[in-house]
Amino acid sequence: MLGKDARVSEMLRMPLSRRPGTTGRLRGGVVVFCDPHSYPRNVDRIVDVPGFIPAVGIHPKQVSTWTASEMESFKILMRSPKVKALGEVGLDFQARHMEKQEEVLRYILRAYADPAKPVILHLRGPRGNEGVAYSRGMKLAKKCLDKTQPVQLHCFNGGSAAFARWREYFPNVYASFPLTKDQKRGLKGVPAEQSLIEIDAPYLPTVDKNPFRRLLPWQIKISAASLGFLAPKAKL
Ligand SMILES: [Zn+2]
Repeated sequence: MLGKDARVSEMLRMPLSRRPGTTGRLRGGVVVFCDPHSYPRNVDRIVDVPGFIPAVGIHPKQVSTWTASEMESFKILMRSPKVKALGEVGLDFQARHMEKQEEVLRYILRAYADPAKPVILHLRGPRGNEGVAYSRGMKLAKKCLDKTQPVQLHCFNGGSAAFARWREYFPNVYASFPLTKDQKRGLKGVPAEQSLIEIDAPYLPTVDKNPFRRLLPWQIKISAASLGFLAPKAKL
């Protein structure tokens, strides 16, 4: 059984009840640590496979309970040369404390954003109005980030107009999509070269009912095939 601090190499060795029926080689990915309660003490130990890189952030749902010691851990992790991306950070209108969320996002982007490291943004609007988060998030990002900043809009479902507005100001913007019907619709408005594939653990159900009750890196291939980036095949 995989523990909380399972290494990427261990996850890749885990047998699945059903292998992803797709072509394509899994060459790497970004492993996101944005829950301060489970920040790893040593990212190098956990993200131990070439091609995989860690990102560190603070999820907007967690900002109201972010403690001084967790903030200290965040700062220590950000100093690791192995951490090559900042995130998730962002705004979530379905959580509380919007003022605090904005304050923390502003602080983190100003203090830690680096045009050499992508920023992974979680922008979730109130139910039925996703556009609010993308416009408010962009307003804030414009004040804090360089125009050349690579930005990933994670779990993107803002539609083509919102993506075009982001791209106009931040030409290095990307949208990433997990395997859900909503995101499949959103994908239509984003050029393929600015689209990324993701699995969003632990919020989305596993496609494969593996006994570990968590998403494993292999499942990115199932997402990729479902979103049309890989041709589904009977076997690997
Ligand atoms: Zn998120």
